Amino acid sequence: MSRPPRHLADLELGERRQAVAELGERPFRADQLSRHYFGRYTDSAADMTDLPAGLRETLASELLPRLLTEERALSADRGATRKSVWRALDGALVESVLMKYPDRVTVCVSSQAGCGMACPFCATGQAGLTRNLSTAEIVSQVVAGERFLLDEAAGSGRSGGTAPTRVSNIVFMGMGEPLANYKNVVAAVRRMTDPVPGGLGISQRSVTVSTVGLVPAIGKLAAEGLSVTLAVSLHAPDDEARDELVPVNRRWKVAEVLSAAWDYAAATGRRVSIEYALIKDINDQAWRADMLGSLLAGRLVHVNLIPLNPTPGSRWTASLPGVQDEFVERVASHGVAVTVRDTRGQEIDGACGQLAASVATDHPGRRVGPARRHHATSLPLA
Ligand code: SAH
Repeated sequence: MSRPPRHLADLELGERRQAVAELGERPFRADQLSRHYFGRYTDSAADMTDLPAGLRETLASELLPRLLTEERALSADRGATRKSVWRALDGALVESVLMKYPDRVTVCVSSQAGCGMACPFCATGQAGLTRNLSTAEIVSQVVAGERFLLDEAAGSGRSGGTAPTRVSNIVFMGMGEPLANYKNVVAAVRRMTDPVPGGLGISQRSVTVSTVGLVPAIGKLAAEGLSVTLAVSLHAPDDEARDELVPVNRRWKVAEVLSAAWDYAAATGRRVSIEYALIKDINDQAWRADMLGSLLAGRLVHVNLIPLNPTPGSRWTASLPGVQDEFVERVASHGVAVTVRDTRGQEIDGACGQLAASVATDHPGRRVGPARRHHATSLPLA
C-alpha cells in the first residue's frame, strides 16, 4: 500500500504557506487556496477566479490532489441517509455516511481502510486492516459531504426534507479504529474544527471520536486540549463477555478502560458516551444491565444502546424488543442517562458496523450517483 500524496488538508496553515513558497509563489496564495477548499469546498482550479489563471492549475494539482473518488453512492431513508464508497489512489476502499436530521447533519467518517481490532460482530472487523488513512483522506470525507449539501441546496435534486445545508456533526464511527491512527486522526480533528481558512470551522463539541478502548491513546487524547466527545465501545460490563466481543479487552480490561474514560471526562468536562450493541442472549441479560448501571452510576456519562445490525453470516441477532426495553429500564434505574440509537441506512449497509466497502457485490439499495454532471466535477475533490 502506498502513501497518499501530500494534500493541503495534511498541513497546518503555516506549513501550507511554506509549501506554496517552495513552489516559488507568494505565501498568501496558501490562504486563498485554503479558503476555496475549507470555505467553499472546492478543489477545482476553474472555481479559483481570484488566483491568476496560470497559477490555478499548478497550485491545485500540487496541493489539492484528488485523494478519494466516489465509486458508488447509495441513499436510504427517503434521501435522508447517503452512503458513499470511496476509492483511494492506491485502490483502497472506504465508506462514509451522511445523515440528515431536521436540526443537524452528521457525517460518519472512516479513519482507516479496514480495521485491525477484529470485533466479531462488526463487518469492518472481519476483513482486517488495509492501512491508515491520511489526515486529508479523513477530512475530505467531510468536505465531500459539505459539497454535496451545497450542490443539493443549489440544484433541483433536493431531497430529505429541510435539514441544514452545512455539516454540523462528525462521528468517527465509520471504518477503522481512530485511536490506532492517532496522529492523523487528531490532525484531522484540528482541520475539521479550526476556523476557515485553517480548517472547516465545525465546533469541537460536535465531533465524536469512538474507540474500542486503547487506554494509553485515550490518555493522550485527554491531554490534547480538544473539546471533542469520547465514545467508548464497551458492549459488555464484564471481562468475560468483553474479551470475546472486543478482543482488545484482553490487553486493557473493562476497569482500565472505564478509568481512562473518567479521566477523559475530568480533563475535558465532556460527558463520555458508552456504546453498547445489544446482542440477543450474549450481552443483553438483566444482570448485565444492572452491572453496567452500577459501574456507570454517578459518572459524567451517557449510554448509547445500538440494536445489533447482524452482518452477513453472523450467528448473532439483535435483542428482542421486550428485552431491550428492560435493559434500558434497568440501566436508567441507576440514574444513568440511556438512549437507544436510531439505525439509519440499514438497507444500504450504511448502519453502525455494516461498513465493509463491498463494491463488488450487488446492493439492494437505490443507486444515486455520481449522477449529475456537476457532481462528477466537484465531488471528486474528496
Ligand atoms: N473502532 C471504533 C469505531 C467503530 S464503529 C469503535 O470501535 O468504537 C462505531 C460503533 O459501531 C462501535 O461502537 C462499534 O462497536 C459499533 N458496531 C460495530 N458493528 C456493529 C454492528 N454490527 N451492530 C451494531 N453496532 C456495531
